[in-house]
Amino acid sequence: MDSSNSTPEVSEITSVSKSDNRPISTIVIIVAMQAEALPLVNKFQLKEDDNSLFPNGVPWVRYHGIYKGLSVNIVWPGKDAVLGVDSVGTVSASLVTYASIQALKPDLIINAGTAGGFKAKGAGIGDIYLPSVVAFHDRRIPIPVFDLYGVGSRKAFSTPNLLNALDLKVGRLSTGDSLDMTATDETSIFSNDATVKDMEGAAIAYVAELLKVPAIFVKAVTDIVDGNKPTPEEFLQNLATVTAALDKAVTEIVDFISGKSILAL
Ligand code: SAH
Repeated sequence: MDSSNSTPEVSEITSVSKSDNRPISTIVIIVAMQAEALPLVNKFQLKEDDNSLFPNGVPWVRYHGIYKGLSVNIVWPGKDAVLGVDSVGTVSASLVTYASIQALKPDLIINAGTAGGFKAKGAGIGDIYLPSVVAFHDRRIPIPVFDLYGVGSRKAFSTPNLLNALDLKVGRLSTGDSLDMTATDETSIFSNDATVKDMEGAAIAYVAELLKVPAIFVKAVTDIVDGNKPTPEEFLQNLATVTAALDKAVTEIVDFISGKSILAL
């Protein structure tokens, strides 16, 4: 079976109990890059932990504080211990998501970050997406059923009221471990029907589903994948302004969440 010709099966990240009307108390915001994390840390006036929740020696960082009655945690996988660059990508994202859920038992995971956007699907620089579905585009296993496992399509937790209240765009997110896009990736991204492309989302969705925590994704477009500028250049050029737009959106989302139950989102 060729996955590009089949409709991917999409599983729900979590099933929340229908009677869960308690206000959300703890959220974990997973952010891959320091440049994305620090403005939010300042905005919510969070403090870096003195004693890490995480195993000795790992570079993972948690910032924590109380904002509008919510326990807000921003978790960043830190800088690579040897190379000194942000630990972007699916492996670090999965590990910090797992460790944060184990340590903090959050009511909700928010993965906030930058992404490439496809102008053919309507994306522009600075647009903010709240993806409805996330999937991988670089896990090719051309064996029946394993192909679907590789694609790993998952629905984000459904937040109709949040979408109604805020000015966010909806589309699908495709995740892979490369910033560039090969022709083979492009075919998979097309069959994932993606509007935005990142390096963490589908991995975080996998862990959130495993541990039954609702997860949503907020992705700000730093570069146009099907445009004419080289991605690394365009990414760096737009990172500061787009990060400011991302912060604004995440703040609005957290403001909206404050005082509500998970089912009211
Ligand atoms: N050159 C950057 C590297 C960042 S990697 C640096 O100087 O540090 C890109 C990060 O932004 C990842 O966390 C990824 O999720 C996101 N991203 C932005 N644009 C992307 C794109 N076109 N494709 C994949 N990921 C992208």
